[in-house]
Amino acid sequence: MPNPLFDALFAPLQRRDTAFLILADGRQISGKAFFALIARAANALRAEGVQPGDRVAVQIAKSAEALAVYAAATSIGAVFLPLNTAYTPDELDYFLGNATPRVFLCDPAKAEALSPLANRHNAALLTLDGAGQGSLPALMQGQPDSFTPTDRSPTDLAAILYTSGTTGRSKGAMLTHANLLSNAETLAKLWHFTETDVLLHALPIFHTHGLFVASNISLLTGGAMIFLPGFEADTVLRMLPQATAMMGVPTFYTRLLDHPGFTRDATRHMRLFISGSAPLLAETHTEFEARTGHRILERYGMTETNMNTSNPYDGERRAGTVGFPLPDVELRIMADGAEVPQGGVGMIEVRGPNVFAGYWQMPEKTREELREDGWFLTGDLATRDADGYIQIVGRAKDLIITGGYNVYPKEVELLLDEVPGVLESAVIGLPHPDFGEAVFAVLSPRKGVTLDPEAALAAIRDKLARFKQPKAAVVLADLPRNTMGKVQKNLLRADYAGWFKA
Ligand code: AMP
Repeated sequence: MPNPLFDALFAPLQRRDTAFLILADGRQISGKAFFALIARAANALRAEGVQPGDRVAVQIAKSAEALAVYAAATSIGAVFLPLNTAYTPDELDYFLGNATPRVFLCDPAKAEALSPLANRHNAALLTLDGAGQGSLPALMQGQPDSFTPTDRSPTDLAAILYTSGTTGRSKGAMLTHANLLSNAETLAKLWHFTETDVLLHALPIFHTHGLFVASNISLLTGGAMIFLPGFEADTVLRMLPQATAMMGVPTFYTRLLDHPGFTRDATRHMRLFISGSAPLLAETHTEFEARTGHRILERYGMTETNMNTSNPYDGERRAGTVGFPLPDVELRIMADGAEVPQGGVGMIEVRGPNVFAGYWQMPEKTREELREDGWFLTGDLATRDADGYIQIVGRAKDLIITGGYNVYPKEVELLLDEVPGVLESAVIGLPHPDFGEAVFAVLSPRKGVTLDPEAALAAIRDKLARFKQPKAAVVLADLPRNTMGKVQKNLLRADYAGWFKA
C-alpha cells in the first residue's frame, strides 16, 4: 500500500540532482541531499519509538532540517504537529497535554526550561535549532540515508494544526493525506506551477500557508524554493532575481512597497505574486500594480480547510476580492439556513476534499462546525458580486450588533481607509450601556501625518447610516498583528473595553 504524501511529494526527490532549496547564504540543497535528510530524520524518529499515528510536535525555527522533519514524520505515518514559535511554556503545556505527542522537538536554548513539561506529558524531548544543530541532528548522523515509508490510506491523518484561538481555546485541526494532497494538486494546476518555478518562501512553516500551500505545491511540481528564515525586505530583494513566484501575507507586499529598491525592474522576471491569510487592501493591490506591472493574485483559505477560493490566473484579478471557489470546492453563502441572494451577506460554508477531518479530541466543537453532510461553517462572512467574485467582509465573531442592528466592520473600514491621512483602520464593537455594543474605530495614520480622529469620523458621516457610524475613534501608530499579518481585533477589544462604560 502507498503513502500518499510520500509518493507524491517526497519520493521524487530521490532522483533529483538539481537544487530543491536555495538558502539565504547562497547554499543549495539538491533533491537527493534533501531526501537523505528526510530519510535520516525518519530513521531517527523511528529509533525514538515513533509509531504510526503518534504525534510529533515541533516548536522550532524554520530551516531545511525543520522541513525534513515534516516530510519524515508524515512518511513514517506519524502526525506532524507544528507549533507557533511565539508560544509560551504555559501555552505549550496546553498543546502537549491535548495532543500527547510521542516526541516534542524544541530549540536547544529552550530545552532546559521545557524539559519538565515534556516529562509531564510523556513526550521524548529532542532539539533542533535554525542552523540545523541539536540532539535530533546528532541522532540523525548515525542513521542510514534511505528508509521504507509506512503505508497510509488517504484518510489517515498527516498533520494537526492548532487554530490561532482568538476566542477560547485553540483547536487542533486534523488534516489527512488526502486533504493536503488534493489541495496542492488543485492549486498547482490553477496557478500553473511547474518544475521550472523557483518559489520565494519567506513564510513561517508552522502555519498552513508556508507549510502546505507553498511547500507542498513546490514539492508536488518538482520546483525549487528560496527558503528564507523569515521576511526581511533587503534579503528578499537580494534573492528575488532568482525567483519566478512568491507567496506572502499582505504585510510582505506593503513592506516591499516601502522599500526604494522594489521597482518594476526588480520584478521583471517574476511570473506570479500570491497573497493570502489576511485581507489585502485594494490600495496595496493598485499600488503594487502601478509600481511593478504585476497584479497580485489573492486567495482565501484557513487552517481547517486549506485553500477555498482564488482569483483567476488568467482573467481579472479583482482587488478586494478573493475570487472564485476552487474547482473541487463547493461554496455557499448562508444566512438563516438559506443561501443569501447575490449581494447579500452571509457565512461562507465549504465542502470538498480539502476540508479537514474534525478537531482533535473535541467531538462537540467538530459537530458544531463540521456538519455530517460535509459542510464546514467557516465563521467568515462574505458577499458575492454580480460576476461571482467573493468578498470577505469579516469574521462572524467580529460582527457588531449595536442596538439590535448588524454592522459589518469591513463596510466602515473601507470608507475610513479612504479618508486622507488614514493608512488603515480596524472597526470593532465595544460594550455600551445603551446599545449593547457600540461601533468604535481604531485608525492608523499614514507616515508623517497627525490624524484628528473626530475629523476622520466627520468625513464619513454622510456616507453611512447613523447606526453604522463609529461613536468614537482613536489613533494608533500601528494596528496589532499576528505573525500571519492578521489584525488582532481581540486585543483591540480588550484594550478599549472600558471606553463606553458609564
Ligand atoms: P488561519 O486559519 O490562521 O489560516 O486563518 C484563516 C482566516 O484568515 C480565515 O478564516 C479568514 O478569516 C482569514 N483569511 C485568510 N485569507 C484571507 C483573505 N485573502 N482575505 C481575508 N481574510 C482572509
